[in-house]
Amino acid sequence: MNDPFQSAALREYQKSATQLALGKDATAALKKSYERYDNLIAKTIDASPIKPACKAGCAFCCHYKVEVRAHEMLLIKDYMSKTFSAEKIASVLAEAEANAVIIRTLTPEQHLTTNLKCALLQGNQCSIYPLRPFRCRNFHSTDAGACEQSHGDPGNMEIATGMIEDVAMFADAHTQGFEAAAEQTGRDARVYDFTTALLEAFNDANALKRYKSGKKTFTQAIEVLE
Ligand code: SF4
Repeated sequence: MNDPFQSAALREYQKSATQLALGKDATAALKKSYERYDNLIAKTIDASPIKPACKAGCAFCCHYKVEVRAHEMLLIKDYMSKTFSAEKIASVLAEAEANAVIIRTLTPEQHLTTNLKCALLQGNQCSIYPLRPFRCRNFHSTDAGACEQSHGDPGNMEIATGMIEDVAMFADAHTQGFEAAAEQTGRDARVYDFTTALLEAFNDANALKRYKSGKKTFTQAIEVLE
């Protein structure tokens, strides 16, 4: 196989499938996959003459629609439960609830063009940064000015924020490799809206049980049909 992106996807699939066979909740395998992803993307950026404009404190993209897989959200819940205070969790969930009330009135297309600050964005930094989902990891931009412009005019799909092609392709390949392994080993492969899945992860103690038995993990969250 000569295509470097297909090779990356296959490599990730094989590594993740082996690790997923070891743990029912998939969190250990997903953490390892995130580590490999970060190494792959760092190497790709090093080799690129163009660099991303993304930096700490710039968070226009954290007002966009975010999607998540069940294992990603269960890992985020675990991380928040271990590292956030009870007050901080309550505050995040209250903000998520307010966002969810708005999101449930929007069509998928309207949601795409509506700015809503992610409830996990605190002081313009992602409060779960080491465990942010693939959808957030995969986003990068080469033009912070365009991100600001898009944030100010969210309905304008003509604004191009720019991307590094190899970074986007490797990011996609790696994500597909992990997700194919998760699906192949019987995990919930559905895509959920981030905010409503976050709320259900905390509000329904049976979500993890459903995930472990290969069922639909989130029954109240919005499922995103791709
Ligand atoms: S999870 Fe983190 S990176 Fe993703 S949108 Fe929310 S604050 Fe931003």
